[in-house]
Amino acid sequence: MHTALQVAIRRYCRLSVPNELVQLVSLTVASLLTKQSIKHRGITLIALPPYRVDSLIQVVTALELLERTDDRRYRRVQRFVKRIVLCDSRLQAFYSLIGRICGLTKTPPPSKYADQLVVYRYAALLVHEATHGLVLAKAHCCTSGLSERAEKICTAEHKRYARKLPPKGDLERRGLE
Ligand SMILES: [Zn+2]
Repeated sequence: MHTALQVAIRRYCRLSVPNELVQLVSLTVASLLTKQSIKHRGITLIALPPYRVDSLIQVVTALELLERTDDRRYRRVQRFVKRIVLCDSRLQAFYSLIGRICGLTKTPPPSKYADQLVVYRYAALLVHEATHGLVLAKAHCCTSGLSERAEKICTAEHKRYARKLPPKGDLERRGLE
């Protein structure tokens, strides 16, 4: 195939990552089957097995923390995230503009992370993934170059938010800085 055409197709085909699409479809089907979900201010929160609906309390607390501490970034989450899926994934978190889904990998048990830090982590990841939504909505496409740039923008943005949250040292050690 002609290189320019390949580039053009890649440019207009954000879903050139089949794994992402497969993951998205399976998550949505699973959420319908399990009914492990709650609603918080217009956002549907879904717990995928093995997690149960009570695991979502920390995500709700993270949303409330974000609302209290950063109105602008909270509004971005409300605008670009309609569903939050708590699950096991090899990624810390991921985002799909289709369905406005933010996936969050359940943080390891409290023996490793203090409860408050789990909430901070979720809040920072929500900022990160909602920023992906904003960038994707503005770009309308995502070449590999653009997606690298998007990752830098989103990482800078969640770090700016994480700096508002004490204790800074703990966040640094856990890779949020
Ligand atoms: Zn990212």
